[in-house]
Amino acid sequence: MRTLILSDIHANLTALQAVLEDAAPFDRVWCLGDIVGYGPDPNECIETIRDLPGIRCVRGNHDAAILGEIDIAAFNSEARASLEWLETHLLSENWTWLSERPERQTIENFTLVHGSPRSPVWEYVMDVSTARDNLAHFDTPYCLIGHTHIPSIFAWDDSARGSTRLYLMPPDEPFELDTKSIINPGSVGQPRDHNPLSSYLLYDDEADLPFEYRRVPYDVEQVQRRILEAGLPQRHAARLREGW
Ligand code: ZN
Repeated sequence: MRTLILSDIHANLTALQAVLEDAAPFDRVWCLGDIVGYGPDPNECIETIRDLPGIRCVRGNHDAAILGEIDIAAFNSEARASLEWLETHLLSENWTWLSERPERQTIENFTLVHGSPRSPVWEYVMDVSTARDNLAHFDTPYCLIGHTHIPSIFAWDDSARGSTRLYLMPPDEPFELDTKSIINPGSVGQPRDHNPLSSYLLYDDEADLPFEYRRVPYDVEQVQRRILEAGLPQRHAARLREGW
């Protein structure tokens, strides 16, 4: 079975469509939250995700903010501006669908959260010490996270008694993981690793090398235009070109 693993779509339908096309065929989809925020297509992205085969999805911090569970004062001014825009644009049925997403799901060998297993909606796993502390907070072999928008793997290192290593994934090279790991597929709609290409992961449980990380181009300029036309902050458009 082929599973498409994606995160941080951030209301960028053009990027989402490019990923879905590139990843096909797949049997099911796991989404690690932040479908909305920053971009111009919140409703279209929720409606697309909702209808994908075998969809399982957890909620992110932007999702939680629009649900009223996080004070939007906790966000920086431009993220806040996009959340205020979202309050007037998100359709009520899509708000309801988001409100039904859990913070955490366990599926087979995987724990799914947005931020970290210790603090599912808000904590950023950016470094090995945070990752090491978080390895104790899930019982499955793998934990899938998003939130940082940086594709990465933090893996327990058996040989170095208790240390955790950071791996960067080379694209288009299938690989396996044989120790407990925290895996971040990167962001579909707003990559922040100075690479503007959309980022995602495939998992094929029948393959010898079950994981494959991929990057895919999309029409950035068209999305930038639509961000500006929607009256969203200029910075949200500018960053897509450079991937920051
Ligand atoms: Zn995000």
